[in-house]
Amino acid sequence: SALPTTQDTLPKALDDIEVSRLRADFPILGRNVNGVPLTYLDSGATSQKPSCVYEAEQHYYENFNAAVHRGAHSLAVEATDIFEQARTDVARFIGAKDNEVVWTSNATEALNLITYSFGNASAGLGGDAARAFALGAGDEIVVTELEHHANLIPWQELALRTGATLKYIPVDESGALRMDLAGSIITPATKVVAFTHVSNVLGTVTDVAALVALARNVGALTVLDGCQSVPHLPVDVKALDVDFMAFSGHKMLGPTGIGGLYGRAGLLDAMPPFLTGGSMITSVTMEKAEYLPAPMRFEAGTQRISQVHALATAVAYLREVGMDRIAAWEENLGERMLTGLDGIPGVRVLGPAQGAARIGTAPFVIEGVHPHDVGQFLDSRGIAVRVGHHCAQPLHRALGVVSSTRASTYLYNTTSDVDALLNAVSDVRGYFG
Ligand code: PLP
Repeated sequence: SALPTTQDTLPKALDDIEVSRLRADFPILGRNVNGVPLTYLDSGATSQKPSCVYEAEQHYYENFNAAVHRGAHSLAVEATDIFEQARTDVARFIGAKDNEVVWTSNATEALNLITYSFGNASAGLGGDAARAFALGAGDEIVVTELEHHANLIPWQELALRTGATLKYIPVDESGALRMDLAGSIITPATKVVAFTHVSNVLGTVTDVAALVALARNVGALTVLDGCQSVPHLPVDVKALDVDFMAFSGHKMLGPTGIGGLYGRAGLLDAMPPFLTGGSMITSVTMEKAEYLPAPMRFEAGTQRISQVHALATAVAYLREVGMDRIAAWEENLGERMLTGLDGIPGVRVLGPAQGAARIGTAPFVIEGVHPHDVGQFLDSRGIAVRVGHHCAQPLHRALGVVSSTRASTYLYNTTSDVDALLNAVSDVRGYFG
Protein backbone atom coordinates (compact mmCIF):
# COMPACT_ATOMS: atom_id res chain seq x y z
CA SER A 1 0.00 0.00 0.00
CA ALA A 2 1.16 3.51 -0.79
CA LEU A 3 2.57 5.69 1.97
CA PRO A 4 0.18 8.46 2.98
CA THR A 5 0.75 11.61 0.98
CA THR A 6 0.36 15.08 2.44
CA GLN A 7 -3.05 15.20 0.83
CA ASP A 8 -4.18 12.08 2.66
CA THR A 9 -3.12 13.43 6.04
CA LEU A 10 -4.23 17.05 5.73
CA PRO A 11 -7.92 17.48 6.52
CA LYS A 12 -9.93 19.00 3.71
CA ALA A 13 -10.70 22.69 4.12
CA LEU A 14 -14.23 23.53 5.23
CA ASP A 15 -16.56 24.47 2.41
CA ASP A 16 -20.24 25.36 2.03
CA ILE A 17 -21.16 21.70 1.55
CA GLU A 18 -19.54 20.52 4.77
CA VAL A 19 -20.78 23.55 6.68
CA SER A 20 -24.33 22.79 5.49
CA ARG A 21 -23.92 19.33 7.00
CA LEU A 22 -22.65 20.79 10.29
CA ARG A 23 -25.65 23.12 10.40
CA ALA A 24 -27.91 20.12 10.89
CA ASP A 25 -26.35 19.82 14.38
CA PHE A 26 -27.72 23.26 15.27
CA PRO A 27 -31.53 23.03 15.22
CA ILE A 28 -32.04 26.75 15.88
CA LEU A 29 -30.40 27.57 12.53
CA GLY A 30 -33.37 25.91 10.83
CA ARG A 31 -35.95 28.32 12.24
CA ASN A 32 -37.67 31.20 10.53
CA VAL A 33 -37.61 34.77 11.80
CA ASN A 34 -40.18 37.26 10.51
CA GLY A 35 -41.29 34.68 7.98
CA VAL A 36 -37.85 34.13 6.46
CA PRO A 37 -35.04 31.70 7.31
CA LEU A 38 -32.75 32.90 10.11
CA THR A 39 -29.31 34.20 9.09
CA TYR A 40 -27.36 34.22 12.35
CA LEU A 41 -24.45 36.66 12.23
CA ASP A 42 -24.20 37.49 15.93
CA SER A 43 -21.83 34.81 17.21
CA GLY A 44 -19.54 37.50 18.60
CA ALA A 45 -22.26 38.10 21.20
CA THR A 46 -23.04 34.44 21.76
CA SER A 47 -22.69 31.32 19.65
CA GLN A 48 -25.46 28.88 18.85
CA LYS A 49 -25.07 25.39 20.33
CA PRO A 50 -25.08 21.99 18.65
CA SER A 51 -27.69 19.65 20.11
CA CYS A 52 -24.97 17.41 21.62
CA VAL A 53 -24.10 20.27 24.00
CA TYR A 54 -27.51 20.65 25.63
CA GLU A 55 -28.13 16.91 25.40
CA ALA A 56 -24.96 16.50 27.48
CA GLU A 57 -26.57 18.62 30.21
CA GLN A 58 -29.74 16.56 30.07
CA HIS A 59 -27.72 13.32 30.15
CA TYR A 60 -25.85 14.58 33.21
CA TYR A 61 -29.08 15.42 35.07
CA GLU A 62 -30.71 12.14 34.12
CA ASN A 63 -27.79 10.00 35.25
CA PHE A 64 -25.24 11.65 37.51
CA ASN A 65 -26.58 14.73 39.26
CA ALA A 66 -24.83 15.21 42.63
CA ALA A 67 -22.64 17.78 44.38
CA VAL A 68 -18.98 17.29 43.46
CA HIS A 69 -15.97 16.87 45.75
CA ARG A 70 -18.26 15.89 48.63
CA GLY A 71 -20.11 12.83 49.76
CA ALA A 72 -19.03 9.23 49.43
CA HIS A 73 -21.96 7.98 47.40
CA SER A 74 -21.59 6.73 43.85
CA LEU A 75 -23.38 9.60 42.14
CA ALA A 76 -21.10 12.12 43.88
CA VAL A 77 -18.02 10.17 42.80
CA GLU A 78 -19.23 9.90 39.21
CA ALA A 79 -20.25 13.56 39.06
CA THR A 80 -16.81 14.53 40.39
CA ASP A 81 -15.13 12.41 37.70
CA ILE A 82 -17.22 14.10 35.00
CA PHE A 83 -16.46 17.53 36.42
CA GLU A 84 -12.71 16.94 36.60
CA GLN A 85 -12.56 15.15 33.22
CA ALA A 86 -14.12 18.26 31.70
CA ARG A 87 -11.39 20.37 33.27
CA THR A 88 -8.75 18.11 31.72
CA ASP A 89 -10.43 18.32 28.30
CA VAL A 90 -10.84 22.10 28.32
CA ALA A 91 -7.33 22.63 29.75
CA ARG A 92 -5.88 20.49 26.95
CA PHE A 93 -7.88 22.48 24.38
CA ILE A 94 -6.05 25.69 25.38
CA GLY A 95 -2.69 24.03 26.03
CA ALA A 96 -2.90 24.26 29.84
CA LYS A 97 -2.48 21.75 32.68
CA ASP A 98 -5.49 20.65 34.75
CA ASN A 99 -4.71 22.69 37.83
CA GLU A 100 -4.21 25.80 35.71
CA VAL A 101 -7.91 26.14 34.79
CA VAL A 102 -10.42 27.64 37.24
CA TRP A 103 -14.14 27.56 36.44
CA THR A 104 -15.96 30.87 36.51
CA SER A 105 -19.37 31.91 35.26
CA ASN A 106 -17.92 33.75 32.24
CA ALA A 107 -14.91 35.79 31.14
CA THR A 108 -16.19 38.80 33.07
CA GLU A 109 -16.03 36.86 36.32
CA ALA A 110 -12.59 35.47 35.42
CA LEU A 111 -11.25 39.01 34.96
CA ASN A 112 -12.91 40.16 38.19
CA LEU A 113 -11.40 37.15 39.96
CA ILE A 114 -7.92 38.40 39.04
CA THR A 115 -8.55 42.03 39.94
CA TYR A 116 -10.28 41.22 43.25
CA SER A 117 -7.52 38.76 44.15
CA PHE A 118 -4.84 41.36 43.34
CA GLY A 119 -6.87 43.87 45.37
CA ASN A 120 -6.90 41.48 48.32
CA ALA A 121 -3.15 40.98 47.95
CA SER A 122 -2.78 44.78 47.91
CA ALA A 123 -4.71 44.94 51.19
CA GLY A 124 -2.16 42.54 52.73
CA LEU A 125 -4.18 39.32 52.46
CA GLY A 126 -2.45 36.14 51.37
CA GLY A 127 0.78 36.72 53.27
CA ASP A 128 4.25 36.87 51.77
CA ALA A 129 3.38 34.61 48.84
CA ALA A 130 0.76 37.10 47.63
CA ARG A 131 3.00 40.14 47.80
CA ALA A 132 3.97 39.71 44.14
CA PHE A 133 0.37 40.60 43.22
CA ALA A 134 0.07 43.67 45.46
CA LEU A 135 -0.32 47.07 43.83
CA GLY A 136 -0.09 50.55 45.29
CA ALA A 137 0.71 54.17 44.52
CA GLY A 138 3.47 54.38 41.93
CA ASP A 139 2.54 51.06 40.31
CA GLU A 140 1.02 50.98 36.84
CA ILE A 141 -1.59 48.83 35.12
CA VAL A 142 -1.57 48.93 31.32
CA VAL A 143 -4.58 48.04 29.14
CA THR A 144 -5.46 48.99 25.56
CA GLU A 145 -8.09 51.23 24.01
CA LEU A 146 -9.47 48.16 22.22
CA GLU A 147 -10.81 46.55 25.37
CA HIS A 148 -14.28 45.23 26.01
CA HIS A 149 -15.58 46.89 29.19
CA ALA A 150 -15.04 43.52 30.94
CA ASN A 151 -11.27 43.96 30.58
CA LEU A 152 -11.31 47.65 31.42
CA ILE A 153 -13.65 48.45 34.30
CA PRO A 154 -12.25 45.78 36.69
CA TRP A 155 -8.79 47.37 36.20
CA GLN A 156 -10.21 50.88 36.72
CA GLU A 157 -11.73 49.67 39.98
CA LEU A 158 -8.49 47.95 41.05
CA ALA A 159 -6.58 51.17 40.37
CA LEU A 160 -9.12 53.11 42.46
CA ARG A 161 -8.86 50.64 45.33
CA THR A 162 -5.06 50.47 45.38
CA GLY A 163 -3.89 53.91 44.23
CA ALA A 164 -2.17 52.38 41.19
CA THR A 165 -2.27 54.27 37.88
CA LEU A 166 -4.20 52.93 34.89
CA LYS A 167 -2.58 53.61 31.51
CA TYR A 168 -3.56 52.46 28.05
CA ILE A 169 -2.07 51.82 24.64
CA PRO A 170 -4.22 53.88 22.27
CA VAL A 171 -5.53 52.97 18.82
CA ASP A 172 -5.13 55.15 15.73
CA GLU A 173 -8.16 56.56 13.90
CA SER A 174 -8.59 53.26 12.03
CA GLY A 175 -8.63 51.22 15.24
CA ALA A 176 -5.13 49.75 14.85
CA LEU A 177 -3.28 49.42 18.14
CA ARG A 178 -0.39 51.91 18.37
CA MET A 179 2.26 49.24 18.93
CA ASP A 180 4.89 51.91 18.21
CA LEU A 181 3.92 53.53 21.54
CA ALA A 182 3.65 50.34 23.59
CA GLY A 183 7.35 50.30 24.48
CA SER A 184 7.16 53.72 26.14
CA ILE A 185 3.79 53.11 27.85
CA ILE A 186 4.97 49.86 29.47
CA THR A 187 7.65 50.96 31.96
CA PRO A 188 9.53 49.47 34.93
CA ALA A 189 6.59 50.70 37.07
CA THR A 190 4.17 48.46 35.13
CA LYS A 191 2.92 45.53 37.21
CA VAL A 192 0.23 44.16 34.87
CA VAL A 193 -0.44 44.36 31.13
CA ALA A 194 -4.00 43.27 30.30
CA PHE A 195 -5.14 43.13 26.70
CA THR A 196 -7.52 41.43 24.33
CA HIS A 197 -6.35 38.72 21.94
CA VAL A 198 -9.04 39.60 19.40
CA SER A 199 -11.10 42.81 19.40
CA ASN A 200 -14.78 42.01 19.81
CA VAL A 201 -15.67 45.05 17.68
CA LEU A 202 -13.08 44.89 14.90
CA GLY A 203 -12.10 41.21 14.91
CA THR A 204 -8.45 42.26 14.69
CA VAL A 205 -5.81 40.00 16.24
CA THR A 206 -3.40 41.59 18.72
CA ASP A 207 0.35 41.02 18.46
CA VAL A 208 0.47 39.00 21.69
CA ALA A 209 4.14 38.06 21.36
CA ALA A 210 5.24 41.70 21.15
CA LEU A 211 3.21 42.78 24.20
CA VAL A 212 4.29 39.73 26.23
CA ALA A 213 7.95 40.51 25.41
CA LEU A 214 7.56 44.13 26.55
CA ALA A 215 5.79 43.03 29.75
CA ARG A 216 8.37 40.34 30.55
CA ASN A 217 11.12 42.84 30.00
CA VAL A 218 9.87 44.92 32.94
CA GLY A 219 8.73 41.95 35.06
CA ALA A 220 5.00 42.67 34.58
CA LEU A 221 2.29 40.00 34.61
CA THR A 222 0.24 39.50 31.44
CA VAL A 223 -3.52 38.96 31.30
CA LEU A 224 -5.06 37.96 27.97
CA ASP A 225 -8.76 38.35 27.22
CA GLY A 226 -9.31 35.25 25.07
CA CYS A 227 -13.07 35.66 24.78
CA GLN A 228 -13.02 36.23 21.02
CA SER A 229 -9.95 34.14 20.17
CA VAL A 230 -10.50 30.80 21.91
CA PRO A 231 -13.73 30.12 19.95
CA HIS A 232 -12.25 31.01 16.56
CA LEU A 233 -8.49 30.33 16.47
CA PRO A 234 -6.18 27.58 17.70
CA VAL A 235 -5.05 29.00 21.08
CA ASP A 236 -2.17 27.59 23.14
CA VAL A 237 -1.48 29.51 26.33
CA LYS A 238 2.03 28.07 26.62
CA ALA A 239 2.95 29.14 23.10
CA LEU A 240 1.45 32.59 23.77
CA ASP A 241 3.38 32.64 27.07
CA VAL A 242 0.77 34.71 28.93
CA ASP A 243 0.33 34.45 32.70
CA PHE A 244 -3.48 34.53 32.68
CA MET A 245 -6.24 34.13 30.11
CA ALA A 246 -10.01 34.55 30.47
CA PHE A 247 -12.59 32.87 28.23
CA SER A 248 -16.35 32.36 28.02
CA GLY A 249 -18.06 29.04 27.24
CA HIS A 250 -21.15 30.51 25.59
CA LYS A 251 -19.11 32.04 22.76
CA MET A 252 -17.52 28.66 21.88
CA LEU A 253 -20.62 26.47 21.41
CA GLY A 254 -20.95 25.91 25.17
CA PRO A 255 -23.83 26.81 27.47
CA THR A 256 -24.27 30.13 29.24
CA GLY A 257 -23.09 30.39 32.83
CA ILE A 258 -19.68 28.81 32.37
CA GLY A 259 -16.29 30.29 31.59
CA GLY A 260 -12.76 29.89 32.75
CA LEU A 261 -9.56 31.45 33.88
CA TYR A 262 -6.19 30.05 32.90
CA GLY A 263 -3.43 30.93 35.38
CA ARG A 264 0.16 29.83 35.02
CA ALA A 265 1.04 27.05 37.49
CA GLY A 266 2.30 28.52 40.73
CA LEU A 267 0.71 31.92 40.28
CA LEU A 268 -2.86 30.88 41.12
CA ASP A 269 -1.69 28.97 44.22
CA ALA A 270 -0.08 32.11 45.60
CA MET A 271 -3.04 34.44 44.98
CA PRO A 272 -5.58 35.23 47.71
CA PRO A 273 -9.08 33.89 47.03
CA PHE A 274 -11.77 36.03 45.42
CA LEU A 275 -14.94 34.32 46.69
CA THR A 276 -14.79 32.40 49.96
CA GLY A 277 -16.97 29.74 51.57
CA GLY A 278 -17.47 26.01 51.18
CA SER A 279 -15.34 23.68 49.04
CA MET A 280 -12.23 25.88 48.93
CA ILE A 281 -10.71 25.23 52.37
CA THR A 282 -8.42 22.76 54.11
CA SER A 283 -9.34 23.75 57.68
CA VAL A 284 -11.57 26.31 59.36
CA THR A 285 -11.76 27.55 62.93
CA MET A 286 -14.04 30.27 64.29
CA GLU A 287 -11.17 32.68 63.78
CA LYS A 288 -9.69 31.78 60.41
CA ALA A 289 -9.47 29.45 57.43
CA GLU A 290 -6.74 27.78 55.39
CA TYR A 291 -7.31 27.47 51.67
CA LEU A 292 -6.83 24.68 49.17
CA PRO A 293 -4.39 25.17 46.29
CA ALA A 294 -5.72 26.17 42.85
CA PRO A 295 -8.01 25.51 41.17
CA MET A 296 -10.27 24.72 44.14
CA ARG A 297 -9.25 27.75 46.18
CA PHE A 298 -11.12 29.78 43.53
CA GLU A 299 -14.16 27.50 43.31
CA ALA A 300 -16.17 28.39 46.41
CA GLY A 301 -19.64 26.92 46.68
CA THR A 302 -21.51 24.36 44.61
CA GLN A 303 -20.18 24.38 41.08
CA ARG A 304 -21.74 24.56 37.58
CA ILE A 305 -21.34 20.87 36.93
CA SER A 306 -23.74 20.31 34.03
CA GLN A 307 -22.44 23.43 32.29
CA VAL A 308 -18.83 22.31 32.70
CA HIS A 309 -19.71 18.92 31.23
CA ALA A 310 -21.52 20.57 28.33
CA LEU A 311 -18.58 22.89 27.70
CA ALA A 312 -16.28 19.86 27.43
CA THR A 313 -18.75 18.46 24.89
CA ALA A 314 -18.56 21.72 22.94
CA VAL A 315 -14.77 21.56 22.99
CA ALA A 316 -14.87 17.97 21.69
CA TYR A 317 -17.10 19.19 18.85
CA LEU A 318 -14.67 22.01 17.99
CA ARG A 319 -11.71 19.61 18.07
CA GLU A 320 -13.54 17.22 15.79
CA VAL A 321 -14.13 19.95 13.20
CA GLY A 322 -10.60 21.31 13.78
CA MET A 323 -9.66 24.77 14.99
CA ASP A 324 -7.32 25.34 12.03
CA ARG A 325 -10.13 24.65 9.60
CA ILE A 326 -12.56 26.84 11.55
CA ALA A 327 -10.07 29.72 11.55
CA ALA A 328 -9.41 29.36 7.81
CA TRP A 329 -13.12 29.18 6.97
CA GLU A 330 -13.96 32.23 9.06
CA GLU A 331 -11.10 34.17 7.50
CA ASN A 332 -12.72 33.47 4.11
CA LEU A 333 -16.12 34.56 5.33
CA GLY A 334 -14.64 37.63 6.98
CA GLU A 335 -12.87 38.72 3.81
CA ARG A 336 -16.04 38.22 1.80
CA MET A 337 -18.01 40.37 4.26
CA LEU A 338 -15.41 43.13 4.54
CA THR A 339 -14.77 43.36 0.80
CA GLY A 340 -18.49 43.19 0.01
CA LEU A 341 -19.45 45.85 2.56
CA ASP A 342 -16.61 48.08 1.43
CA GLY A 343 -18.07 48.10 -2.07
CA ILE A 344 -21.55 49.26 -1.00
CA PRO A 345 -22.08 53.03 -1.41
CA GLY A 346 -22.54 54.87 1.90
CA VAL A 347 -21.08 52.05 3.99
CA ARG A 348 -18.02 52.74 6.14
CA VAL A 349 -16.30 49.59 7.32
CA LEU A 350 -14.61 50.18 10.68
CA GLY A 351 -11.14 48.91 11.43
CA PRO A 352 -7.70 48.90 9.86
CA ALA A 353 -7.29 48.56 6.11
CA GLN A 354 -7.64 45.09 4.68
CA GLY A 355 -4.69 42.83 5.13
CA ALA A 356 -4.66 43.10 8.96
CA ALA A 357 -5.11 39.74 10.73
CA ARG A 358 -8.85 39.57 11.41
CA ILE A 359 -11.39 36.92 12.35
CA GLY A 360 -14.86 36.78 10.74
CA THR A 361 -16.14 40.06 12.10
CA ALA A 362 -17.37 43.06 10.15
CA PRO A 363 -18.24 46.30 11.97
CA PHE A 364 -19.75 49.09 9.88
CA VAL A 365 -21.82 52.24 9.84
CA ILE A 366 -24.15 53.42 7.09
CA GLU A 367 -24.24 57.10 6.23
CA GLY A 368 -27.42 58.75 7.47
CA VAL A 369 -28.92 55.61 9.05
CA HIS A 370 -28.75 54.87 12.77
CA PRO A 371 -27.29 51.40 13.58
CA HIS A 372 -30.48 50.52 15.48
CA ASP A 373 -32.50 51.13 12.31
CA VAL A 374 -29.97 49.06 10.35
CA GLY A 375 -30.40 46.25 12.89
CA GLN A 376 -34.19 46.37 12.63
CA PHE A 377 -34.11 46.40 8.84
CA LEU A 378 -31.76 43.40 8.78
CA ASP A 379 -33.97 41.62 11.31
CA SER A 380 -36.94 42.08 8.97
CA ARG A 381 -34.88 40.02 6.51
CA GLY A 382 -34.17 37.39 9.19
CA ILE A 383 -30.59 38.58 9.68
CA ALA A 384 -29.35 38.76 13.28
CA VAL A 385 -26.49 41.20 13.94
CA ARG A 386 -25.40 43.26 16.92
CA VAL A 387 -25.93 47.02 17.08
CA GLY A 388 -24.72 49.54 19.64
CA HIS A 389 -21.33 50.10 21.24
CA HIS A 390 -20.65 46.38 21.81
CA CYS A 391 -19.38 47.08 25.36
CA ALA A 392 -16.50 49.07 23.90
CA GLN A 393 -17.42 52.75 24.25
CA PRO A 394 -13.83 54.06 24.36
CA LEU A 395 -12.97 52.27 21.10
CA HIS A 396 -16.06 53.68 19.39
CA ARG A 397 -15.12 57.15 20.60
CA ALA A 398 -11.62 56.70 19.14
CA LEU A 399 -13.19 55.65 15.82
CA GLY A 400 -15.33 58.79 15.85
CA VAL A 401 -18.69 56.99 16.06
CA VAL A 402 -21.16 56.45 18.89
CA SER A 403 -22.28 53.04 17.79
CA SER A 404 -22.03 50.58 14.93
CA THR A 405 -23.49 47.45 13.38
CA ARG A 406 -21.44 44.27 13.74
CA ALA A 407 -21.86 41.06 11.76
CA SER A 408 -19.86 38.15 13.16
CA THR A 409 -19.51 34.61 11.88
CA TYR A 410 -18.82 31.15 13.23
CA LEU A 411 -18.17 27.69 11.86
CA TYR A 412 -21.83 27.22 10.92
CA ASN A 413 -22.08 30.24 8.60
CA THR A 414 -22.09 29.78 4.85
CA THR A 415 -21.15 32.13 2.04
CA SER A 416 -24.91 32.47 1.41
CA ASP A 417 -25.27 33.96 4.90
CA VAL A 418 -22.68 36.57 3.98
CA ASP A 419 -24.38 37.24 0.64
CA ALA A 420 -27.75 37.64 2.38
CA LEU A 421 -26.16 40.29 4.61
CA LEU A 422 -24.55 42.09 1.68
CA ASN A 423 -27.80 42.13 -0.30
CA ALA A 424 -29.76 43.45 2.65
CA VAL A 425 -27.18 46.13 3.50
CA SER A 426 -27.28 47.27 -0.16
CA ASP A 427 -31.01 47.94 0.29
CA VAL A 428 -30.77 49.88 3.58
CA ARG A 429 -30.22 53.38 2.21
CA GLY A 430 -32.92 52.95 -0.42
CA TYR A 431 -35.39 51.92 2.29
CA PHE A 432 -34.60 54.77 4.68
CA GLY A 433 -33.73 57.37 2.05
N1 PLP B 1 -14.13 40.23 26.36
C1 PLP B 1 -14.49 40.23 25.09
C2 PLP B 1 -13.46 40.54 24.04
C3 PLP B 1 -15.80 39.93 24.73
O1 PLP B 1 -16.16 39.94 23.44
C4 PLP B 1 -16.74 39.65 25.75
C5 PLP B 1 -18.16 39.40 25.42
O2 PLP B 1 -18.72 40.00 24.53
C6 PLP B 1 -16.30 39.65 27.07
C7 PLP B 1 -15.00 39.94 27.34
C8 PLP B 1 -17.23 39.35 28.19
O3 PLP B 1 -17.71 38.06 28.07
P1 PLP B 1 -18.88 37.53 29.02
O4 PLP B 1 -20.00 38.50 28.86
O5 PLP B 1 -19.19 36.19 28.51
O6 PLP B 1 -18.32 37.53 30.40
